[in-house]
Amino acid sequence: MKDIIDTIGLIADGMRIETTTRFRVTNPGTGGVAGHAPDGGQEELDRAVAAARGAFPAWAATSDEERARLCMAVADQIESHAEELARLITAEQGKPLGGIGSRWEVGGAVAWARYTAGLSLPMQVLQDTPEGRVEMYRKPLGVVGSITPWNFPVLIAVWHILPALRSGNTVVSKPSPLTPLASLRLIELMNEVLPAGVVNSVSAADGSFNMGAAMSAHEGIAKIVFTGSCGTGQKVMRSSAETMKRLTLEMGGNDAGIVLPDADPKAIAEGLFWGAFINNGQTCAAMKRLYVHDDIHDAVCEALVAYARTIKVGEGTQDDSVLGPVQNRAQFEKLSRLVAQAKETGQVLLGGEPGEGLFYPPTIIAGLTADDPLVYEEQFGPALPIIRYRDVDDALRQANALDVGLGGSIWSSDKEAAKALAGRMECGSVWINSHGMIQPNAPFGGVKKSGFGVEFGEEGLKEYTDIQVIFA
Ligand code: NAD
Repeated sequence: MKDIIDTIGLIADGMRIETTTRFRVTNPGTGGVAGHAPDGGQEELDRAVAAARGAFPAWAATSDEERARLCMAVADQIESHAEELARLITAEQGKPLGGIGSRWEVGGAVAWARYTAGLSLPMQVLQDTPEGRVEMYRKPLGVVGSITPWNFPVLIAVWHILPALRSGNTVVSKPSPLTPLASLRLIELMNEVLPAGVVNSVSAADGSFNMGAAMSAHEGIAKIVFTGSCGTGQKVMRSSAETMKRLTLEMGGNDAGIVLPDADPKAIAEGLFWGAFINNGQTCAAMKRLYVHDDIHDAVCEALVAYARTIKVGEGTQDDSVLGPVQNRAQFEKLSRLVAQAKETGQVLLGGEPGEGLFYPPTIIAGLTADDPLVYEEQFGPALPIIRYRDVDDALRQANALDVGLGGSIWSSDKEAAKALAGRMECGSVWINSHGMIQPNAPFGGVKKSGFGVEFGEEGLKEYTDIQVIFA
């Protein structure tokens, strides 16, 4: 496996591009080497963009049916290499192979790719009267630059690339330097079934050449689809202004869950846990703050902690691991700081002490308020703050008080009452009695500083097009 990993390369115009150096990718579960990835620079980026530009006219002119067929072939290709991709993800990202881990991530990538392949944006007749006919077309933009984070490297790449391709764009894909291997392998696999130049890849080590910044400023790229932190998304917006790029920015959040007094603590405990701790909390739309009504506060804490105690944390290739390590040192240190600060005022119900290496046990801390950094900062790790409330309007006010708004959830036995409250949450998605359960047919995106634009479904596909109206 190691030999294969170290041959994963960059692709431009269907051909492998050699870089003079490769950089080390660390396995967060073992602290060892996961592999070495190509360390590219401006030259590799220019080649990838030129290849994508060269391939664009033919791809945009390819019939809709043929593009759908080829996108479906990409889905099949991912499926037939699922185990290889899952093992790469576990090696560099750390998540377990089983459970809601890397096999699940690749399964999601296949499902999203298939669903997206089946979408289309046909011409719409806006008017057909004796006065005239008005037709609206959705036209591809050109080259789409995809910039992805380290938490779901394959799934998020598919979220970016498939709708771009399906609507007739060509792509330059850049993975996070922390998890480049599975994503670059994904691009190699796509190139086995797609015409040359339609999907190309670049990568660079952290701290050498800032590939993401160079992509955002590149004259040859028409749109950036970015998933990552708020601060980096703002940089993308700034550096893409000069070239008037279209942008989809999927950035950080700090999702609130609100448990109403009529909820059944035991019935919701498992859902609450996975809402917060999926992918070890390293999930954009994970529940990052939990507001629980005073009447059932202690019962909810007890049931949640009882469920969380059953979760085994361990290295991703071990069969019994349910959660893996934190992916990287910076994230681990941020988490450790936030938990240490929270311990000064809150009561640790579970966990609270860093483990070996990058392992951190699921941590639940009650007795916190809006002033605690673990409540108002995005922890992006396995630590959940619990805030007790007495008045539902006050809980809602606190939930809406932050300047981000990706997801939210209401937990209640009364669906209608929960729905009424859901409509008052300031975020892009609200779940009732679950959290973070995204699906390929429902648009997903943030409000406020969590970004703009949506992914998934027909609305997501439209983001990769410009409108042209023909008055005949
Ligand atoms: P990050 O912002 O550090 O990095 C994201 C990507 O941007 C990486 O590929 C990185 O190399 C690249 N990058 C770095 N500097 C850049 C620049 N100046 N210009 C352009 N690109 C640049 O984010 P991360 O730490 O990899 O991911 C964690 C964050 O991502 C969290 O805040 C999380 O909430 C967010 N996230 C959001 C979603 C969503 O859909 N909204 C999904 C997953 C993660």
